Amino acid sequence: MPRCRFCDAPLNQLLVDLGMSPLCESYVAAEKLNCMEPFYPLHVYVCEQCFLVQLEEYVAPEEIFGEYAYFSSYSTSWRQHVKAYTEKMRRELDLSERSLVVEVGSNDGYLLEYFVQAGVPVLGIEPAANVAEAAKARGVPTLVKFFGRQTAKELVAEGRQPDLLVGANVLAQIPDLNDCIAGMKILLKPEGVITIEFPHLLRLIAENQFDTIYHEHFYYFSFLAAERIFAFHGLTLFDVEELPTHGGSLRIYARHVGDRSKPLTERAKELKGREESIGTATLAYYRSFTEQVHETKRRLLEFLIDAKRNRKTIAGYGAPGKGNTLLNYCGIRTDFLDYTVDMNPYKQGKFLPGTHIPIYHPDKIAATKPDYVLILPWNLRDEIMQQLAYIRDWGGKFVVPIPTVAVY
Ligand SMILES: [Zn+2]
Repeated sequence: MPRCRFCDAPLNQLLVDLGMSPLCESYVAAEKLNCMEPFYPLHVYVCEQCFLVQLEEYVAPEEIFGEYAYFSSYSTSWRQHVKAYTEKMRRELDLSERSLVVEVGSNDGYLLEYFVQAGVPVLGIEPAANVAEAAKARGVPTLVKFFGRQTAKELVAEGRQPDLLVGANVLAQIPDLNDCIAGMKILLKPEGVITIEFPHLLRLIAENQFDTIYHEHFYYFSFLAAERIFAFHGLTLFDVEELPTHGGSLRIYARHVGDRSKPLTERAKELKGREESIGTATLAYYRSFTEQVHETKRRLLEFLIDAKRNRKTIAGYGAPGKGNTLLNYCGIRTDFLDYTVDMNPYKQGKFLPGTHIPIYHPDKIAATKPDYVLILPWNLRDEIMQQLAYIRDWGGKFVVPIPTVAVY
């Protein structure tokens, strides 16, 4: 029986079973199309003891992170989000050339670059070598390492303790959660601040965002579950912001338990109270999710079958991880979706894992004039509908699959 990755209790309660799926970032090159492709179970559990929602561990992390395809800097709205964050933190923490900002899972350096531009010293920590190279190329010093107790101790020994320790959508991808948070506790300056962003479990469940579940995301946090985990490691969540990113995220603010200079904020108290009344720390809260997911599959297939019977053409937009969960779970291949497009040149010319739907440059849409464009990164829906407004010229329409199938 699998065990909870935080508290080691046996995991008995399934949140949802999304079947077997390939690793969602393993885009397939043309010459590999006839090769065997590994599929792993996508079974999500909720721990009955600590209410951490999590995947069973199936895949060696090296296999996931060796050549990670996700370069964060490609989305315009994400860049704006990050820029606003860095300005806010510089102001609130009074960061200067004497400060240090460390980011765990620093990706291609897009976030730390804003601090570099403002003259604040930074250090990125990123396990994917190809992505770390991109960061170094843009002037962001980056260690190619997994972050945990060991890395934290090495940095402390070198006198490199951060005033601000950042994790932007990385916590869910850390295989050893306890080692990572214990490392943060070791590394943080006595009066330093940790900020971490992650998709909010409350929104995932309320808005049916089951496609954001994939093998690369091991955990899905409520505020209460996160608070319990950080408290175990001697860190207090003293503030929280609710953000619109990734379909609804939390940015939690943590400090050392003994740091009295940062009292619990009203909005942290309010969110705790809200989660307590909704019941994120009770099993009943998690029991209806499966049926909700099944119904979304039926609705999406209903729409696609109907469109194809009426001889409509359908293209995808985007090749995000969440799209791969959705398409594999629903069994949607080129029988429904002729192709998809993506801005990321790394993905163009490749094929989606499992479904083998080809990925092209976005120009393909204007060239082929599909009747429908299925928006796979629905969290960027408004941005994409603006960019692709020209599909109206030939009567094209947008289809958004989540939270429920909608046509615009
Ligand atoms: Zn647990």
